[in-house]
Amino acid sequence: MSKPSIRETDESTLTAWLKSHNQPAFRAKQIRDWFFSKMAVSFDDMANVPKALREELAQDFTPCSLTPSTVLRADDGTVKWASELSDGAKVETVLIRAPERSTVCISTQVGCPVRCAFCESGRLGLVRNLKSVEIIDQVIIASHELGHRIDNVVVMGTGEPMFNLDNLIPALNYLCDMENGLGISARNITVSTSGIPNGIRRLADQHRPWNLALSLHAPNDKIRSQLIPEKNRHRIAEILAACTEYREATGRMITFEYVLIDGMNASEGNARDLARLAHLARAKVNLIPLNNGSTTWKAPSKEQCQQFLDILTASGLQATIRLRKGDKIKAACGQLVAKKSPEKPDTPPNEAKPPRRDKK
Ligand code: SAH
Ligand code: SF4
Repeated sequence: MSKPSIRETDESTLTAWLKSHNQPAFRAKQIRDWFFSKMAVSFDDMANVPKALREELAQDFTPCSLTPSTVLRADDGTVKWASELSDGAKVETVLIRAPERSTVCISTQVGCPVRCAFCESGRLGLVRNLKSVEIIDQVIIASHELGHRIDNVVVMGTGEPMFNLDNLIPALNYLCDMENGLGISARNITVSTSGIPNGIRRLADQHRPWNLALSLHAPNDKIRSQLIPEKNRHRIAEILAACTEYREATGRMITFEYVLIDGMNASEGNARDLARLAHLARAKVNLIPLNNGSTTWKAPSKEQCQQFLDILTASGLQATIRLRKGDKIKAACGQLVAKKSPEKPDTPPNEAKPPRRDKK
């Protein structure tokens, strides 16, 4: 059985453990200070705790459920970790730095069962769900890198969050817990979904002001059917009804994410149809020019993307184009790759498969 995480061990359990190991009670505060305020990832980080006690702690507790095996740093400050989990599976996490605040993009699954045609993360399908502590510890490694607690968390890495709510909800509650967690503001947490109505409703039932982003990507079901395989695709009307429930339960505006793909969903007519849907759902829109993966699809030109944006903003919507960060280290949206253990090499570009499409 795996050892409990030190970070998820409450104060009274830790105090009892220290007593049973003939240690003074004040060590509980010291240890918690290292793991909650100073974002320690190893017992050896605790400079003011004797080595013998650090070793005893290591026998009974895990300091971090992830072992970063690769760390890539881009010139723009973006950092990507590939971390190994206790069973050898790998998960990727990205830190995006901005002058005013830093954001960590975390994964919720190893692989993804939805398998959107343009996304590398879903290429292998689902390997397994991440445990709560494995979700939390991604936020910790990014905070450790910064030297302080991160400001913003986006659940936009590998995986479909709505298929792992049993582990995600406790993880988010921990991240927001002021007393026994990290104390991140719920309003600085965003969960992104490919549009799973039951999951959206279940998240709404938590009545927490977490932001919800919907990966819409198409102004109608016909175009959407070319991007998202049928198995986990729901009708836009049904998804938007769940989003309305979410907005009403939490008071948070929804954001539509829309990956712009040339010749697929990026025409002026598509922009006008999207604007209508966004007004209906009272949503903001975040446009994401396609990042290159293993398909032959391309992002539209800069001018076309701008034109698409202008149509949305002219209709009175709040809309932005997402800045491309970290694509040189394959840390941009949709570029995180699921790897089983033992590690498989990426498919070389000349062996890349064409996009999966549903049969008509
Ligand atoms: N599974 C969830 C969250 C992870 S994906 C979801 O789909 O919403 C996070 C975002 O990255 C989604 O909006 C997704 O559509 C986008 N994305 C995936 N592949 C991409 C690519 N190749 N280029 C740009 N964005 C991509
Ligand atoms: Fe999964 Fe999201 Fe990638 Fe689709 S875009 S395959 S839902 S991670």
